[in-house]
Order: sequence, then C-alpha cells, then structure tokens
Amino acid sequence: MAVIIPLFTPHEGCLHTCIFCNQRHIRPNPEPIGPQQITDTINTWLARLRPQQQQTTQSTQAARTVEVAFYGGSFTALPRQRQENLLHAVQPFLAQGLVQGIRLSTRPDSIDTDTLYMLKRAGVHLIELGVQSCDDAVLARSGRGHSHEDTLRASRLIRKAGLQLGWQLMLGMPGEGFTAIRRKVAACIQERPDCIRIYPLVVLRGSRLAEEWRDGRFRPLSLKKAVLFCAYMKSHFDAHKLPIIRMGLQASSDLKEYLLAGPYYPAFGELVRARMMLKRTRTLLSGYHQKEPCILRIAPQDVSAFVGMKRSNMHRLEELGLSTRFTLKLDARLPRQSLRLDTSLQHFQ
Ligand code: SF4
Repeated sequence: MAVIIPLFTPHEGCLHTCIFCNQRHIRPNPEPIGPQQITDTINTWLARLRPQQQQTTQSTQAARTVEVAFYGGSFTALPRQRQENLLHAVQPFLAQGLVQGIRLSTRPDSIDTDTLYMLKRAGVHLIELGVQSCDDAVLARSGRGHSHEDTLRASRLIRKAGLQLGWQLMLGMPGEGFTAIRRKVAACIQERPDCIRIYPLVVLRGSRLAEEWRDGRFRPLSLKKAVLFCAYMKSHFDAHKLPIIRMGLQASSDLKEYLLAGPYYPAFGELVRARMMLKRTRTLLSGYHQKEPCILRIAPQDVSAFVGMKRSNMHRLEELGLSTRFTLKLDARLPRQSLRLDTSLQHFQ
C-alpha cells in the first residue's frame, strides 16, 4: 500500500452546499494552500518516512511508494490556473523520484476530458469521485447538485483517459433506505472502481442537516445499523474483488469539535470486520454436527475481529450456545480474514 501525503483544499472549488457539509460555516473564507506550504508539507513527511523506507530496503522488502493527495475540495472545479499551480508544486518531487504519483478527490459533475489529460500529464494517476449515492432522489434530498448519470459519465471519462478511479460512498443519507443501498452496491459492482471508501453519515454542527436533526426531521443511523449495512456492502464488494481502502471517518480535530450525532466510531472498520467474522463463524458452526468440538483456525492478526469489540462476538456465541463447540487455533499460514474449520479453508473476506 502506498504512503499518502494528504494536502487539504477544504471546500475549494465547490459551488454547492450539501445538506451534511459544514465547510462553508466553519471556513467562510478558507486560507488557500500555497506552493510553499505544499513543499514544506511534503518535505516534512519525506523526512519522517526516510528511516522507515531505509529499513524496508535493508530488509529486502520493496520500499513503499509515496503519493501526494489533494483532498477536501472539488479539485477539478477549481479555476484551471489554480489546479496547475497546485500540481506544479509537486513536480520537483516527482522528477526526483521522491514521490511516485498524485491522487485527488472531486465531484462527479466537474470532470471533462481536457482537464483529465492535463491532470495526467502532471502526474495524477487516480481520481476519487464523491459519488455518495446512486439514487437521484437521495442525491437531490441532500442537495448534492449532481445525478447518478453524472457519476457514470465521469467514471467512464476517467477510465478512458487511462486514470484510476475511486468511489467515495456515503451510508445513511436522508431518504436512503435499504433499496437505495442495494442500488448503490449494484452500481458499484457494475462500474468496478479501483478503490472504494465508505463513510457513514454523521450530523455536524453548522450543517443544514443539524437543523433537521434538532427538530426531529432527520435521524442518523445507529452505530449498530451502520455496521450491519457496511458489512452488507463489504461482503458484496469482497465477493467481486473490489478493494475497500477505508470504512468509517478518519478521526480529526474538526470532527471532534463539530460532531453532533451519528454512527462515528474511531475503529469503525474493525467493528465491520468483527461483525462479518461472527456471521461466518455462526454459519460454519451451524453446519458442524459432530459431538466433539471442532477446530477453528484464523490468522493471528484476526484475533480482535474474531473476539469482537469488548468480546462482543464471544458473548454472542455464548448466548447462542456455540462457544463450547470449537477450539480456536492461530495459524500464521492463513491469509487475513479467512476462517478455517478443520481442513476445509473458507474465506469470508
Ligand atoms: S461537494 Fe463536498 S465540499 Fe461541496 S458542499 Fe458537498 S460535501 Fe461540501
């Protein structure tokens, strides 16, 4: 996996006000990031990474690639000169081989072929689209200002330009029931992005959604439901070999300061993996009918997913009378996220 050096252009280029976004409220006049700040940030990161990279080279492992990412705004909606200035600041690092690529995030309705080729020439190799939903009614209810057709069009143009494609998906948007979630999963499987992020929606102070939440017009998903829905999405994406690079919001000082309600949990992805492991364990054990306990094997790194947060999976297995039906063994030869009953290897991913 690449090391990502994140550079933030918060709300820059965005002409919209999504119902869940509070950027306009908390940064009415954001100080735009400039070339010197970009150079300094990259240099700081590279200095911090140097010892790790040397260590991996000495241990004959390949050093991890380093990428610069422009996140937080709608990069391709910025004026062309501003885009070029931002990218220009990264060029010396690309030329020296200190950074191997650039990725950025943007809106689906801000993509055109000419811009894509300019980005490609400047070293951009991956564009993450803020897709959020594939249902036009759900998109409209959140004031996204783009349609699912825009997402499909942008995805195809990105691919046609020879760039990699990422989809950022939200979970628990206003008006989003299970049917819309299923539609989102199906559309994603159809388009096959190179990477996916899943963010459960939370209510932030200063957003329009905060008003709806206060007067009871909107209720966010509970943490339990968000985990269940996310596990549903992940199981389908895993089955189609679509890589998920993040589940859950990244902890940040902004989030801590502005979070009002919603399914935020710092290790959200772990909760999802634990939920999937419990389901798989139950399925395997329900098909095991011998008198003696069986042996279940997992990779050593999966112990916490097997046990669950605060031993929740173990408690549930006890309630179901299944905790005495197996002996757990750690097996370093197993790939992560697999569960093995005796000799038959079963992947649940
Ligand atoms: S597109 Fe992104 S930056 Fe713009 S309002 Fe929506 S969430 Fe905020």
